[in-house]
Amino acid sequence: MSRVFNFSAGPAVLPEDVLREAADEMLDYRGSGMSVNEMSHRSKTFQSIIDAAETDLRDLMGVPDDYKVLFLQGGDSLIFASLFLNLALNKKADYILTGNWANKAYQEAKILGDPKVLASSKDKNFSYIPDCSDLDVRDDASFVYICQNNTIYGTAYHELPNTKGHELVADQSSMFLSEPVDVTRFGLIHAGVQKNVGPAGVQVVIVREDLIPDDLPGVPTLLRFKTQADAGSLYNTPNCWGIYVCGKVFKWIQAQGGLAGMKARNEEKAALLYDFLDSSDLFRSTVNPKDRSLMNVPFVTGDPQLDAEFVAAAAQEGLVSLKGHRSVGGMRASIYNAMPLEGVQKLVGFMKGFETARHRA
Ligand code: PMP
Repeated sequence: MSRVFNFSAGPAVLPEDVLREAADEMLDYRGSGMSVNEMSHRSKTFQSIIDAAETDLRDLMGVPDDYKVLFLQGGDSLIFASLFLNLALNKKADYILTGNWANKAYQEAKILGDPKVLASSKDKNFSYIPDCSDLDVRDDASFVYICQNNTIYGTAYHELPNTKGHELVADQSSMFLSEPVDVTRFGLIHAGVQKNVGPAGVQVVIVREDLIPDDLPGVPTLLRFKTQADAGSLYNTPNCWGIYVCGKVFKWIQAQGGLAGMKARNEEKAALLYDFLDSSDLFRSTVNPKDRSLMNVPFVTGDPQLDAEFVAAAAQEGLVSLKGHRSVGGMRASIYNAMPLEGVQKLVGFMKGFETARHRA
């Protein structure tokens, strides 16, 4: 067996310890005689798995008691719609557009109501986070929406917007559990887990209880947050396997020192890569320095042909999935929680070698 360093933006690298533990339990989960893949979601055993996952997630993030934690399905893209249906009862909410995913959330809101764009960084291909200190938030906006870490463009909010007293709703998909978070600053946080936390097919929604409407006429059952909030995320069959693996990742993060430990690891990895990019004559970051993500690092040489050569040569060395998203081009290294420091060291070492070889040529 040989494992590569996988820089995919998602689904993405998982902690090797977690994968090994899941493999060990594949045929017989802790004496149950069956795999979690074969287990009723109504069984006591599965109940203990989902309960532990929720408890550990609450512990990691310090989720206050008046927030619900939901494990949902349908893709994070479905949450774009469901959060608007549940939280924008007057059909008005204000969006900050910092890339494709914020824009997709906004487009869903447009289907369902009357959203407003408060600010956008489209003028510079989303390479920065707009100034959000004095936004023209509508008085009757139900919430202000951000995508806190922009997977494609490699930007992140290092300071939350001034919402002028309105609820803040954030997509944390590509930064979920990568650093400490003050949940009380948000009305709702949502995240697809397939980047930082688990296999595809689970979305975590953390929402303050008083924002969950009791009654939502005309809205299908599964799109009402109350349905899963009242049923402990077991109204219907959940993604049992996904929740089980997420639970293991939560325990793994606890063992690494929780979110403070994750942040320290992530900062070390990101600094290694950014410092090299800033000193390189060949490669450069595409992102405004103060808005750089700790998780997704796009970079280019400026020559698409050379970028392609680099991606192919890196793959030969076991550094895979480095091709950038088509809207930025070049390369993107996603260095999520589970990417070991050695992966980034090897990448930077390879980039140095590639650059030196070019100078000699
Ligand atoms: N939000 C962000 C920040 C993402 O990066 C993605 C997926 N890349 C999504 C939402 C959409 O997730 P899904 O594919 O689960 O709908």
